[in-house]
Amino acid sequence: MRFLFFIVGINLLVSCIATRKAGTKDDGKLTVTFVQINDVYEIAPLEGGKVGGVARVATLKKEEKQKNPNTLLLIAGDFVSPSVYNSLKYEGQRIRGRQMVESFNASGMDLAVFGNHEFDISENELQSRINESQFQWISSNTFHKTKDGIKPFAKTTDGNTTPFPQTRYMDFSDADGTRARIGFIGLNIPFNKAEYVYYTDVLQTADSLFAKIKDSCDAVVAITHLEVEEDSILARRIPQLALIMGGHEHDMRFKKVGNIYITKAYANAKSAYVNYLTIDKKKKTTSVEPKLVMIDTSFALDAATTQVVSKWVNIANENYASLGFDAAEVVLNKGEALEGREIFIRATTTNLTQYIVAAMEKAAPDADLALMNSGSIRVDDVLPIPVTQYDVIRALPYGGFIQEVDMKGRLLNQVLDVGKTNLGTGGFLQYSSSLKYDNGVWKLKGEPIHPDKVYHVALSDFLMTGGEANMGFLTKDNPGIIKMYSKPEGNDLRRDIRLAIIDYLKSI
Ligand SMILES: [Zn+2]
Repeated sequence: MRFLFFIVGINLLVSCIATRKAGTKDDGKLTVTFVQINDVYEIAPLEGGKVGGVARVATLKKEEKQKNPNTLLLIAGDFVSPSVYNSLKYEGQRIRGRQMVESFNASGMDLAVFGNHEFDISENELQSRINESQFQWISSNTFHKTKDGIKPFAKTTDGNTTPFPQTRYMDFSDADGTRARIGFIGLNIPFNKAEYVYYTDVLQTADSLFAKIKDSCDAVVAITHLEVEEDSILARRIPQLALIMGGHEHDMRFKKVGNIYITKAYANAKSAYVNYLTIDKKKKTTSVEPKLVMIDTSFALDAATTQVVSKWVNIANENYASLGFDAAEVVLNKGEALEGREIFIRATTTNLTQYIVAAMEKAAPDADLALMNSGSIRVDDVLPIPVTQYDVIRALPYGGFIQEVDMKGRLLNQVLDVGKTNLGTGGFLQYSSSLKYDNGVWKLKGEPIHPDKVYHVALSDFLMTGGEANMGFLTKDNPGIIKMYSKPEGNDLRRDIRLAIIDYLKSI
């Protein structure tokens, strides 16, 4: 590192100190229970109330804490954005993760690390979320880039500023008097290049911090938000780690590399990992018993958390109603679950993208074809049947209207070519099934797109801002744009693409 941080590495969290029972003998063994969730954007249960819900996670933590007072609830990154709440307002401000932080506070969240999506929101918004959080943070490789230089992110409450430590120790003791200290590091994928964030190298940082703390504690645990391949590299590189609890992948990961378990739960608190870490002080060994727990109706909803969740659900529903939505209404009750995971929608078409494009065609019947940037779809999840209006809203949290334009074939070809090369990103285009790419030629209903012919195109309004990756040329000022149609108003479904999708799904 070129710059020097003077961060107090030793930071004692209030630990769970059980009183030693008279007459019991210290067995030299101590177990800490970690309740791990990751990649959570939904505070309320999903799938008709059957799965997930932060209030159920709170109950799980309480149950585990009942069995073992040395229990911690942690979030391995990605929770303040993207969420349907991002586009909603409360008290004049965009909500931007405030509902998540309040729900986590109520649930008894103990510890958080950053994920890449924490930096989707603005610097000020993230600072507000951090200040609102009542849990602890660790940030080993992710720092705040300010006009005064690189600093740790920090929480400010009541005028007191607490920098996020790069490492953290927590002390535990159990009923028979065993005492143990666990050291933590928290690593984040250096993926989101927001201008207010600075990263140090993940593996080098892990190496040096591990070397620094390993002799001062009985076990070192990494909480990460990395790709699982990098977690595996980390496990091979530092085989003395006791456990890696990670995030970023949304569909559960479980690996054992050497002796180290790598655990990631399903996103949106559909599951949690409960990891029992036992430290044997005499043998100087650690062992882990991991358990995937599905968060379903077998868990009661914690009352205090539910109160907070309900407050935000009501705020959201009032917002939706004012935009013309009835969030609870079922709009699709048959067929396959809708595939909205980014690895698919940014590389190919899925039933969800086909429905969206078909909905645009239905809402704009005069168009020759419809185009959408796959980055409009932010749910990164499968939407199970029954699909509600809320599912459509959360799938496309930014909404936006369906813009119609008359466009020269030359420009259309250019847009489609860029859309193809944007593979793997939000700029990958989804388009009408009547359009095919055939040996380097775009063909509409079998006919090559002619450079000088004018086509009537329906597309996401965002695309016409020039804001999409490599599509800065696509604005109303491009000479290839012959006509921009006016923004739809009133009861026109084109005024919000989600209304068009809801209308289409109800018709099939
Ligand atoms: Zn992530």
